[in-house]
Amino acid sequence: MAQLDLQAKLAILADAAKYDASCASSGTSKRTSKGGKGVGSTEGMGICHAYAPDGRCISLLKILLTNSCIFDCHFCINRKSSNVRRARFTAQEVVQLTLNFYKRNYIEGLFLSSGIIKSSNYTMEQLVEVARSLREDHDFRGYIHLKTIPDADPELVHLAGLYADRISINVELPTREGLTRLAPEKDGDRIEGAMAGMKSSIEDGVDARRKYRSAPKFAPAGQSTQMIVGADAAKDGDIVTRASQLYGRFRLRRVYYSAFSPIPDASAVLPLNRPPLMREHRLYQSDWLMRFYGFTPTEVVSATDDGMLPLDIDPKLAWALKFRESFPVDINRAPREQLLRVPGLGTKAVKRILSSRRWRKLRLDDVARLTVSVAKVRPFIVTVDWRPTLLTDRQDLRSLIKPTASQLELFATA
Ligand code: SF4
Repeated sequence: MAQLDLQAKLAILADAAKYDASCASSGTSKRTSKGGKGVGSTEGMGICHAYAPDGRCISLLKILLTNSCIFDCHFCINRKSSNVRRARFTAQEVVQLTLNFYKRNYIEGLFLSSGIIKSSNYTMEQLVEVARSLREDHDFRGYIHLKTIPDADPELVHLAGLYADRISINVELPTREGLTRLAPEKDGDRIEGAMAGMKSSIEDGVDARRKYRSAPKFAPAGQSTQMIVGADAAKDGDIVTRASQLYGRFRLRRVYYSAFSPIPDASAVLPLNRPPLMREHRLYQSDWLMRFYGFTPTEVVSATDDGMLPLDIDPKLAWALKFRESFPVDINRAPREQLLRVPGLGTKAVKRILSSRRWRKLRLDDVARLTVSVAKVRPFIVTVDWRPTLLTDRQDLRSLIKPTASQLELFATA
């Protein structure tokens, strides 16, 4: 590998990290450096995020330790057979970069992943060393998210959880068949074994903290995973089902969906085209329906057409159009669970409806103030001055309320 300066390495290894979708920093515990002790904080303005030109959310110091890898996963630009420029940081270089960026207020934390070099254990040791040094040598109190290597020694993975706020272990593909075909060196059982081990350690850590306040925190922001969408034949229904199993079995904080990006010199087993980014968005919306709106995975899957979520309307509207017998819902009387099923009403709008209706009967205008599109809500609700009568059952309802696609103007004035 040619000798590169720090800036050249940063350019390569920050670019290589953009394929990782999981960059949210929510849910960790409070840690500050108020009073002049330590460096960094998990509070305040939160992690800085940037959006890559292709729409991906990336935090500023989101890097790989190295983009060299001894594995050859077909979908990955960093795979052994890929013809990309390689670079590698030392653990201390990452530590110094994090501290320097932090002190200049460029970042609020570190997201660190890596290709596998030498062996899974060696790589994991390097990742852990970065987190250890930041915490122990520099008293860094900012957010740390480490991607772990499922094949590494469980002791090392455990150590990672003692230093990091969040740990993630990628399942990579929604189905076992997809994993075997596209990442033959990865082992689905080992990945799930590592996730199960992490879940137990997180739960043990919470129990220990309940008994002894001085017990060390263990991955206080929990664990997450990522699935690549559109690289194999898995349909949205398969992905939704798999995500709900992962949430249930491993108590994940988040499942991230990353639309497959075609890569240079791609393997012939990969599709030629990327899936629409809207597909990734619809999967996030379906994830939200399960986590915050009380939908079961079976209900979300029932909103699909031949296993795929529609791209032109959101999954909640797709479900409502298929199950019209559940509507209209009386805004002034329905319980929270039913209100949450109304297309166009988010959790905040439902909360405001529930608190406002204690004092007065709500009218259509009141609901209109809580939603972006009253046209989308009207067919599904009853208020004191509105009844949809036959509108809910109209054959052409979908075309009446689906959002119209509009081309954004490049030079529009605000
Ligand atoms: S192990 Fe990770 S970095 Fe290496 S080829 Fe597979 S996905 Fe890419």
